[in-house]
Amino acid sequence: MKHKRYDVEGAVLDIPLQWNERAGKYLEQYPDFEETPVYTPEGFPLRLTCDDACPDAVLPDNIYRECGSCQLFRLHSESLLGVCGHPAHRQTTEEETL
Ligand code: SF4
Repeated sequence: MKHKRYDVEGAVLDIPLQWNERAGKYLEQYPDFEETPVYTPEGFPLRLTCDDACPDAVLPDNIYRECGSCQLFRLHSESLLGVCGHPAHRQTTEEETL
């Protein structure tokens, strides 16, 4: 199966590409980061622009509640991938907890 490799702030992912008849092109099959979390080396979780916003979201009024609209979301160019920069969502390393 074809893959496309992304390096999102140091988190390297191989995203499978699946042929879509209707679109007439390969589409990326993104993982469910709620089910299988992935973190950058700095400990920030990856999210998709279309993921539902969490209760900690920083959103302008009257806007669709998704990560892509959150002011703490850092979009990785040319994909739906990005990083949640909320400090409370960051996973601390073992050294930091010592
Ligand atoms: S980017 Fe982070 S803080 Fe913002 S809505 Fe998504 S998960 Fe919540």
